[in-house]
Amino acid sequence: ELRGERTRRDAAMGGASERYYAEPPRIERGWGALLIETRGRAYLDMVNNVTAIGHSHPRLADSVARQLNLLNTNSRFLYGLYADFTSRLLEHSPDPALDVVIPVSSGSEANDLALRLAQVATGRKMIVAAREGYHGWTMASDAVSTSAFDNPHAADSRPDWVDIVSAPNEYRGRFRGEGAAERYVAELRERLAELAAAGRAPAAFISEPVLGNAGGVIPPAGYLAGAYAAIREAGGVAIADEVQVGYGRLGSHFWGSELAGAVPDIITVAKAAGNAFPLGAVITKREIVDALREEGMFFSSSGGAPASMAAGLAVLDVIRDEGLQENARVVGEHLIEKLRRLGERHPMLGEVHGSGLYLGVELVRDRATLEPATEATREVCERLLAHGVIMQATSERQNVLKVKPPMTLTIAQADVFVAALDRVMSEVES
Ligand code: PMP
Repeated sequence: ELRGERTRRDAAMGGASERYYAEPPRIERGWGALLIETRGRAYLDMVNNVTAIGHSHPRLADSVARQLNLLNTNSRFLYGLYADFTSRLLEHSPDPALDVVIPVSSGSEANDLALRLAQVATGRKMIVAAREGYHGWTMASDAVSTSAFDNPHAADSRPDWVDIVSAPNEYRGRFRGEGAAERYVAELRERLAELAAAGRAPAAFISEPVLGNAGGVIPPAGYLAGAYAAIREAGGVAIADEVQVGYGRLGSHFWGSELAGAVPDIITVAKAAGNAFPLGAVITKREIVDALREEGMFFSSSGGAPASMAAGLAVLDVIRDEGLQENARVVGEHLIEKLRRLGERHPMLGEVHGSGLYLGVELVRDRATLEPATEATREVCERLLAHGVIMQATSERQNVLKVKPPMTLTIAQADVFVAALDRVMSEVES
């Protein structure tokens, strides 16, 4: 039956279909942090950073169904929900100057639009991006991505309007320890000056405020504020890709840039925004959006359509009413402590990165050399599935367990995961 489903999917998608696992479970329904297989077996979903409020949340389902029954149409019409959603999202704006929202349908689109806005507003083309970032699959968002999902020929085919700078990865990057933030910022400043001298002054700097695709690595304190100051002094704007990290998952803060104490000029969101309903958005400043007028107005047929706005509102309401950011903080702290304790018994556990329910467990062959335990990480993910836990590897080296469960995760579920990981690491180490 499973084989039949895989054949049907491969036939529909051709060779480009990507999915978790060689033998993935066939999921029939979801509930909270659980995914339930056709035959009734429940899996604990520890990886799904899209369904932030949990799978099949009834408030989301009811809200979207009600709206679909009433009206769902081209976003050029006038209906109240558009302003309802955008103003609710702006309640989370990190700065009064960021007071406009443009809804789109995905994270890739949000980043494409952010890059275009930066280029139009500055009259420049060049974009500077930090390594180890993933920003999407569309032409522009892919051009500034360097993560494992990257097209293998990207380095050869990267367009001349993109410049890649070091990832501020303090665990295994160029600069570590004391003064790392200042050295990363100094290196960025130097590069910005070189670009300006070569007549390629940048329109923008884009990064994930916490390095999601590197495995939840938090850049050294002061880095992001320094990088944003540097790009502004160079005449460009700062773009924060909050598609993965934003929306409260960090527990302590709603935004990754907020955790870093930095305020960007453009924020992009998606994933959690619609809880797997297609919804993304760009939050930015009025003067940046107004620059688009000269190029013609912005329009997306379904970006901001009524049912998407109903989904977006329901998600924000559930995060607030169920205290999910606070839950991410409490359960995240518990998980970090338990995972670090596992590290005392399992030498392969190199480091626990991240905050809240945005964590990465980095597995290494040797804690001194940090040699990535790529094969063991794949093995751990496969074996966790047998224990009923869904887990995936991330980072360029595919050696980090991506711990980004629904924000509804309970302490008891966190303990189930840690116990399964403990057993599985012992099996893989033996
Ligand atoms: N930015 C980041 C940081 C992401 O993690 C992703 C999705 N993995 C995207 C952008 C692209 O979003 P989407 O898949 O919705 O196009």
